[in-house]
Amino acid sequence: MVSVHTSPLEQPGTGDAGGLNVYVVELSRRLAARGVAVEVATRRTSSSQPELVELEPGVHVRHVDAGPYDGLAKEDLPGQLCAFSAGLMRVAARVPAGHHDVVHTHYWLSGQVGWLFAERWGVPLVHTMHTMAKVKNASLADGDTPEPFGRVIGEQQVVEAADRLVANTQEEADDLVRHYGADPRRTGVVEPGVDLDVFRPGSRARARARLGLPPDADVLLFVGRLQPLKAPDVLVAAAAHLRHRRAGTGRPLVVAVLGGPSGTGLARPTALLEQARALGVDDVLRTSPPVPRPALADWYRAADLVTVPSYSESFGLVALEAQACGTPVVAAAVGGLRRAVVDGTTGVLVDGHDPVIWADALEALLADETRRARLGAAAARHAAGFGWDVTAERVLAEYRRAVADFRRYPTPAPAAAVTGLPAEGGRLEASG
Ligand code: UDP
Repeated sequence: MVSVHTSPLEQPGTGDAGGLNVYVVELSRRLAARGVAVEVATRRTSSSQPELVELEPGVHVRHVDAGPYDGLAKEDLPGQLCAFSAGLMRVAARVPAGHHDVVHTHYWLSGQVGWLFAERWGVPLVHTMHTMAKVKNASLADGDTPEPFGRVIGEQQVVEAADRLVANTQEEADDLVRHYGADPRRTGVVEPGVDLDVFRPGSRARARARLGLPPDADVLLFVGRLQPLKAPDVLVAAAAHLRHRRAGTGRPLVVAVLGGPSGTGLARPTALLEQARALGVDDVLRTSPPVPRPALADWYRAADLVTVPSYSESFGLVALEAQACGTPVVAAAVGGLRRAVVDGTTGVLVDGHDPVIWADALEALLADETRRARLGAAAARHAAGFGWDVTAERVLAEYRRAVADFRRYPTPAPAAAVTGLPAEGGRLEASG
């Protein structure tokens, strides 16, 4: 696998580390459990990172030098792809032909690198977009910077080079076909999952006690990287309306925001605090840097509602994780969130980002404990259908299909003819 811009070893929830990292880690672990050896190549971001790290038996992370360790934003990485490829090429020179069966790349930057290696090794390139510039640009938050044209072109090239595209949802697959001209026969859908051992229902009271949250409060939770696209400011603005309306209930309100700054833009903890101060709700806002998964499960259990107000979301793992813990989700009716949350059954989908409409939805649910309990129980049942084992099985089937198609129609392997490497020779069996 290739994940140039973010390492599976990073703590998700800040910077460039988020759902993609979780996806790569969970998929790799589950593939390894099925006897598939996985190596994930990523950019080295510290001199202390060894060349190869064993994540767990069968899964290795390879650090590749490409540009300075510090201070490179994701936007700067297109200029380092050649360096990254050169670094990986040096490693590849030591690897015998036929060593790899499939190259699976994550995000377009990795697709640009993997494309070269798939051709060189004469194996299929499987690509997962995770997000798409054209989709993101169509629904930007106020003040958010559009994705550059260079990314759009880069994505287009990867779509053309990929032997198989794996989309998170049918909607994403349709977008790939509609916006990037992907061949529907080479596009599969595999939904991501949730770690059902970590994220499972538990006692709200005990979770609150562990986190130091008041037992009688109404707790709203936001989890994720703080960036305009994720819209934590919509929750803060909605909280100001809620506070005003619920003044008579006597129940304290807590708005917890878990996550760190990501990219440029105003949605950082300090900016959120300033916004909350200006709206008179700074006393209800509680921010925290990202936490590891077991603690995160406690936060989900402690919350009355988990909110996901994003402007676009290819899936939204947070929505699944919260539901797996038995907490209903109030999410924007965009992208994969429409699949992750069953409107009216496991949570509520809200159209648009008007804080008043968000406050309406939150207020109605906070006032109705019975309904919340019903939604929470249905949410846990819904999330139970999304284990990572299912995802891994289906991705493996996509690999097998890619290998089988590649053997049958080995046209996109010009490099194989040039280098003399066999166009086939993978050990992944095409059937079974
Ligand atoms: N996350 C975490 N700890 C935190 C905040 C977030 O581990 O404190 C993880 C969260 O569990 C989820 C991921 O970060 O798996 C975010 O994925 P999502 O698909 O919701 O958003 P993305 O980052 O891909 O935009």
